[in-house]
Amino acid sequence: MTAALPARAQDRLNLVATFSILGDFARNVGGERVSVTTLVGPNGDVHVYTPAPADAKKIADAKLVIINGLGLEGWLSRLVQSAGSKATMITASQGITPRKLGADADPHAWQSVGNARIYVVNIRDALVAADPAGAGIYRANADRYLANLDALDRDVRAAVAQIPEGRRKVISTHDAFGYFAMMPSAISRPPMASNSSRRRAFPPNPKRAHATLPRSSPRSKPRKSRRFFLKILAIRG
Ligand SMILES: [Zn+2]
Repeated sequence: MTAALPARAQDRLNLVATFSILGDFARNVGGERVSVTTLVGPNGDVHVYTPAPADAKKIADAKLVIINGLGLEGWLSRLVQSAGSKATMITASQGITPRKLGADADPHAWQSVGNARIYVVNIRDALVAADPAGAGIYRANADRYLANLDALDRDVRAAVAQIPEGRRKVISTHDAFGYFAMMPSAISRPPMASNSSRRRAFPPNPKRAHATLPRSSPRSKPRKSRRFFLKILAIRG
């Protein structure tokens, strides 16, 4: 497959992602065939970002611009306009079911692993369309990353299952965890007759039958899972 790799760095597909999580998805799917630049870096606030002149240059040079959508990047359209960019805009959240935050859509959709899967598939399809010669590589990279997300989904569910129902609370300074609490994951199983009420209690939306937790496995490395869950809680967007 080495023949399909670009020989020089300047031959790579130029991608811009609006913030670091989208950039990470794009790097995992694009691998060596892409060059990914992010506008808002780690610890930056994508809600209130003020673009710098250098950002217009990044956008002008990009083949694809990957955005979250759902109203997160209100500052972007003026930047794209001023950059005179011909880049294709890819909305990574396309196809997710938005939850409401007051009157608006909650933009933090990537916080559920099921939604992150949709983001990755959207980015994969955009890369395949923009660079058909790399289709096989993008699909293989995406498959590998989606398998990682499946494992993450199982770890999160196992960690949550170990927390008593009444203590499943998230305290945060930023309202970013609504989708995490819903966990509408593509890999979760429908409820079975043997489900206990404890397993039905999380996530809180009872209409989402497919979001019911899978069978908990109390003997599967509880300490590691708990640490992992705390790490998840530390992620904010
Ligand atoms: Zn946020």
